[in-house]
This record gives sequence, C-alpha cells and structure tokens, in this order.
Amino acid sequence: MDRKEIIKLKCDLLVNGLRLADLRRDLLEQGWDEQRAMSFLPAELKLPHEIYCQIRENSEANFRLRIVNGKLVVQDRNSREVCDADFVPLPPFAKNFTSDLTPFEKVVVYNGICNLNFTWNYYCDYFRTGHECRFCNLTPAQDFYPEENISNARKNAKQVSDVIAAAKKYHTDPKSILTRGTPHDKQGLGGTVQILEELSERFPYTNDRERTKVLMTVSPTKKIEDVKLIHDLGLHSVSFNFEVFDRGYWKAIVPGKDQNIGRDLWEESLMKAVEYFGQGRVFTALIAGLEPRKTLLEGVQWSAERGIIPIVVPFSPETGSQFEGFRPPTYQWMMDTHLEAADIILKNMDFIGTDEYWKEDAPICGDCFTGGILFDIVRENSGLVDYHSGHELSFEKKEETTTEEA
Ligand code: SF4
Repeated sequence: MDRKEIIKLKCDLLVNGLRLADLRRDLLEQGWDEQRAMSFLPAELKLPHEIYCQIRENSEANFRLRIVNGKLVVQDRNSREVCDADFVPLPPFAKNFTSDLTPFEKVVVYNGICNLNFTWNYYCDYFRTGHECRFCNLTPAQDFYPEENISNARKNAKQVSDVIAAAKKYHTDPKSILTRGTPHDKQGLGGTVQILEELSERFPYTNDRERTKVLMTVSPTKKIEDVKLIHDLGLHSVSFNFEVFDRGYWKAIVPGKDQNIGRDLWEESLMKAVEYFGQGRVFTALIAGLEPRKTLLEGVQWSAERGIIPIVVPFSPETGSQFEGFRPPTYQWMMDTHLEAADIILKNMDFIGTDEYWKEDAPICGDCFTGGILFDIVRENSGLVDYHSGHELSFEKKEETTTEEA
C-alpha cells in the first residue's frame, strides 16, 4: 500500500475502530499471562510510511490486529493481510518521576514519537452547570480512567515542566499540547498563568523561535486583553476551539462556550491571537461529523483566510458524553471532507506545505497527530517527506547541556 492508501486506512480506523479480541488470544499463545493479555489495550499504532494512528476498540470494526509468524499485522474482514503494523514505543524517560515523586505516567501521555500531551486539569465546570459540550467526556472520564486523573493546577505546573525538562535531554525542542477543562469562575485563566510562569522561568527564551513549543488549547476569557497576556507570558501557540462552526449548531452543541464567552468574542479572540502570536501559531479545532460538511468547510475557510489553522478531527462518540452510542459519519464522508479541508488550508496558508514550518515553527508534529488525518493529507499533498521534521524524541540522550535535571 502506498502512503495515500495508508492514510485512508487510518481514516477507517479512526471512524470505525479496530478489532482487538484476536490479538489478545495471539498474545496468550505467545506466553503472556491471561490477565495481562486480556486487558491489553494499546493506545496507538504505527502503520507503514510513518503514519501513526490512535486505536479505538470496536468489536464490529472492518479491520483487526493479529500476530502472524511473530509479526504484528492488520487484517481485513476476509483475514487478508493489509499491512504490517507496530506498537509505538514509549520514550526512555517514560518511567521517570517528577521532583515531587509523581510518576510521569500520571502527568503526560505521548502522541506518536514526538508529541507530549498533558491534560492538566480534568475538571470542567460546564459539567456542573449542565452546559458541557455535547461531545465531551472530560470530567466523566475520571470515572472511566481514574489512573489518568490529574488535578491541582498549581502543582501540575511544576510537574509539566519536569516532564518537558526530561524530554529536553532527548530532543532540544520537544513539542507539547496542554489542555484543561473550563475553570469554576469561567472568566479566569484557571492555572494557565501559573503554567506559563513556570515554563518561562525554567526554560527562558530570548526570541520567539526559542519559546518552549507548547500548544495550549484553552477557552478565551471575557477579557480580550488576556490574549496578549498569555502571549506575553511566553506561550508559543494557542488553540481556541470552535468545535462546530455553524452558529445554530454552536449554540446547541457547545452551550457553555456560547453562554459564557459568546460567539463574537470567540471569533475576536482568535483574530486577536493572530496579531500577537502570528500565522502558524493560532489554531481552532473543528469536529468533522457534528454539522453538515458545507458549514464545517465554511469554518475551515473562515479560519484559513484569517491565518488560523483549523484542526479538523473526526468525530468519535465518547463514553460518558451526551453523544455516547452515536455513530460518526461514514468513512467516505470523512475522507472526502478532510480532502476538501486540506485543499482549502493549502490554498490559503501555503506555509503549511513547507518543511520550514514543520521543522522550525509548528508546535506539534503533524505526523504524530494520531487522532486525525488532516495533517497527514496536508503534508502528503505538499510532497513533504521529512517525516517528523527531526522532532522524534530520541532514544539516546543528547550531549549533556546546561538543561536542568528532572
Ligand atoms: S469546554 Fe467543552 S470541550 Fe472543553 S472541557 Fe469543557 S465541556 Fe469539554
């Protein structure tokens, strides 16, 4: 299969999931103990051509994982082998502890082989008020995945920087995504300031290129001046997520954002962010499959022509969300929509099709964006073949520098 076909396979796996029951039986045969084999649930898969994909288990999926002749493979419904696969190794510092002796695994997860992913607070006040975004399970997720629960933003500022400090021993410029729920007062920055202060104190910078590559996905606040504040505090990139673009769907699907911040201020905050952060450092997520393709693509166009990178992600109905049990649109809808979105983005923001952007400026690795296919398509259609752009977290420590020990 060529790379385009593997991207299509990734799209199918994201939309329809993957069968894992046979893999668990294979692992038993390989001598794994029963409990370990039966609870095995890998988070991500490495497919050929450096395509990395999140795994969602679904017993009715089109594809399954098997071990055949000691090799991990993806098979179709007719048990035909479609391609090799591999699990994604954790970085060498994954078993480290922060300075307050919290295991890294309680603080961070990894996307692909480049991106650190922190959820520094699982609390979103919209779940208390009944205004939670209808697709979201952030706060209920604590009941399903208690081992991933992290709380107390102040403490986590130090924990986050401890992890980044450890990663810096394996890459000079590691990339991170930081997210959280909306805090109780909704207007406030809820831990954002503490994290940014900690990061810029620990990793000082003298120019924009040297800022720690962190993409924060947060809500704007009621004060438009806070956009400048978070930039001045050292943030590299920001994402104020629309989630849905059509104003009617916006009211219905993200009622907390609508009532507490409002659509006009949301748009204004995004445009203001481009003024401070610059093109390529401002993002907004749009979920493909919650609204008609037409309005979703209008959102892609609106964003791209203002220098805002739309992160289109396929809708995946989450356990514990109000859309639990729903289905995403078909594979074909998802693929066609993403192809159109990628075209619009490249037409309006040609820098996204350059090696320079992904190497020097992007806060995340596009090849390690495991929950979506947008950046795989954008990079493939631009002919970019320097996968990961040199951002892989190496397995060897780089030469000792003055970077602080974690
Ligand atoms: S603002 Fe919406 S998407 Fe963000 S955590 Fe709260 S409910 Fe979830």
